[in-house]
Amino acid sequence: MQNAKLIAKTDATVPTTVIHLTPEVTVGGPELLIVGGPCAVESLEQMETVAKALAAAPVQALRGGVFKPRTSPYSFQGLGENGLAILDRVRRLYRVPVITEVMAMHQIDAIATHADVLQVGSRNMQNFDLLKALGQVDKPVVLKRGLAATLEEFVMAAEYIAAHGNTQVILCERGIRSFDPYTRNVLDLGAVVALKQITHLPVIVDPSHATGKRELVLGLAQAAIAAGADGVMVECHPVPEASVSDARQALSLEAMVALVDHLRPIAAAVGRHIPQPMPQVQPCLGVVSAR
Ligand code: PEP
Ligand code: MN
Repeated sequence: MQNAKLIAKTDATVPTTVIHLTPEVTVGGPELLIVGGPCAVESLEQMETVAKALAAAPVQALRGGVFKPRTSPYSFQGLGENGLAILDRVRRLYRVPVITEVMAMHQIDAIATHADVLQVGSRNMQNFDLLKALGQVDKPVVLKRGLAATLEEFVMAAEYIAAHGNTQVILCERGIRSFDPYTRNVLDLGAVVALKQITHLPVIVDPSHATGKRELVLGLAQAAIAAGADGVMVECHPVPEASVSDARQALSLEAMVALVDHLRPIAAAVGRHIPQPMPQVQPCLGVVSAR
């Protein structure tokens, strides 16, 4: 990693950079970041159901794609700007930060206005113009590892964003292509350990896209935390089988809440923690009117 200047860990004592999603929610400190939500935003009702169920877990941030990078041009492409309005409403009503994918430069302004964190998907990890433009944004960026990106390529993609002015980059390991179709991808936990050694950026893991199978998600989320990840991002849905995209890997909301509990002992074993469940899950009607 000779050329990574801004994000390189110059020696082992350099702490992980703490990045604020909001003034209250951070990643990179002792508290783990747990992100949950559907693959795609489908409706306001769906996102409100998710927000209510996950607030109690607690999940500190919600995810949901509105611009979806689909393999087939005939598949659902996301709700676009309408989906962004849903995310914005939910983040205000439930006071929870939201993460959503930016696929193109022209989407940056709208997403930075209505979401708390911009995600660069695997298919865009080396879209250098997009990375440069995100350097100009004053919001955190989740950068997902490319489908077949080496760690050098991954780290240098993050360096692009930093070199152009935005050092708030969260690395996300989401599995890489391999020969075995049993799992959708192969989760590279070695990369998590290595990235924590070579960069000071927070590293999170997406066990959903890594496996493509809901029954494998909890085990790999636990393994990720044990390996030193600063958080996990997991897909879940009120009716998993009815998800418009990535249904096979979606957890139920109950399973998502249970997952958070199953991460607690692992977190404690590695000196990290997850906030305790919160009783208060009422929408914050004072900020945005109900409907
Ligand atoms: C996603 O998180 O919705 C997504 C499309 O993931 P990836 O870019 O890792 O395939
Ligand atoms: Mn997905």
